[in-house]
Formats: sequence, structure tokens, C-alpha cells
Amino acid sequence: MSPPNSWPDGCKAAVSLTFDDGARSQLQEAVPRLDDAGLAGTFYLNPYRGEWETVADQWRQVGLNGHELGNHTTRHPCSCNYHFNDAFCLEKISLQEMADTIDAAQVALDQLHPEGRDKRSFCYPCYQSFVGAGANRQSYVPVVAERFRAARAGGERPNDPSITDLHCLMSYAAEGADADDLIGYAQTAAQDGAWAIYTFHGVGGDHLSVQAEAFSDLTRYLVDQRHRFWTASIIDVADHVHARRNA
Ligand SMILES: [Zn+2]
Repeated sequence: MSPPNSWPDGCKAAVSLTFDDGARSQLQEAVPRLDDAGLAGTFYLNPYRGEWETVADQWRQVGLNGHELGNHTTRHPCSCNYHFNDAFCLEKISLQEMADTIDAAQVALDQLHPEGRDKRSFCYPCYQSFVGAGANRQSYVPVVAERFRAARAGGERPNDPSITDLHCLMSYAAEGADADDLIGYAQTAAQDGAWAIYTFHGVGGDHLSVQAEAFSDLTRYLVDQRHRFWTASIIDVADHVHARRNA
């Protein structure tokens, strides 16, 4: 059991809506719905990757609208088994190479959106937090913990604010979920006073998507139930948890 009144204004749960990879449908579908609802999201971006140069200015505006622009590395390394990049993949790279792609993304994000400096969390590409293989496999969570106050991984359980690792937060992979699934996850968190983190990719299009209408239903629910759910960015909820632990 988490302590009572863990969340601001007597809310029963915290909710963070996170979005990976800078998918274009997030700009087209998710950001307008969040802005209309007055909800802040966390967008984990990969500077210089894909169509970055053509959309960077739009992402700057998203940051200025009050959303968190988080670090998802410049090169998005995942397990070599995914064959995204057979030369630069987790089993083959070093902790230093991982640190370099994280730091390059941070420089780019701070240049794009200096107003958000010191308000960024990290997101593990493909939810994976290791480099190397076999006897040489090691966690890069410490590399992240040296640089950030919070980081999001995967894990399908709401986070208990009293004990969750702020540098390896669990999140619910929302692809394919309908409105009842999405709302049900928040309700589960409220039963335990927990922090429900959602991972979205495409919204109404792109990869690993949810339907835009299901996403709208979730945002409407969170607004209607704002006396029960505190919806905020990863960095803002993490800072709140950190302050509570130190109190
Ligand atoms: Zn990703």
C-alpha cells in the first residue's frame, strides 16, 4: 500500500501519457487532443532521425505548449535481433557508445527547446536497457541515472510511488487498445494509489497505433475525472515522487 494523499489535490492516481519516436500522427492527432483537453504529455524524440529536419519546428511548438520533450537517443539502438541496424545494435555497442547517442540527443533537444532544459526524462528504445551479450551483457540504467531524474521502460504494471525505480519506470504498451482497455488501466492504478504510464506510438495512424477515437475517449475521461486522476508529464510526476520520498 502506498501512503495516503500521495498525489496532489487528493487524487487517487497519477497518469502520464507518453509518445515514442516522434511519429507524425502524434503531431496531427495526439497533440491537438491534449491541448484541447488541457493535458500535458511526454514526447520522446530522436533528433536527426527520419524526417526530423522537417518537423523539428513543430516539436519546438509542442514544447512551448507545455508538453515535455524527452530524450529517446539520436540513433534508437535496439536488440540486434530486430535487424533495425545491424552495425549499431545493443548486443554490439558499448556503454560509451550508448552514452554518446543519449548526449547527442540532449544537445539537440536543448538547442531546439532551451526552455525545457532540466525538464527532460529519458525513454529506453524498444524498452531495452542493456548493452553487450552473454557474460558481457550489462545494464545501461546507471548511464541514464547519472544524466536524468527519471526514465521510462516497459512492464505493464502501474508504478507504486513508494518503491518504483524512477530510472526504469514501467509502462503500458497501448497499441491496439480500445477505449475500455485504456480507461481500465487508469482505474486499476486508482485502486492502489499508483502511477499509470501509457506508451503510445501512432495515434490514428503510423506504427503500433491506437485509434484516434479511443485516445479521445481516454482524454475525455481523464478530464471528467480530474478530481481522481492527476495527469502530468513524466518529469513532473517523477519530481513530485522524489520530493515525497525526501519529505
Ligand atoms: Zn522508440
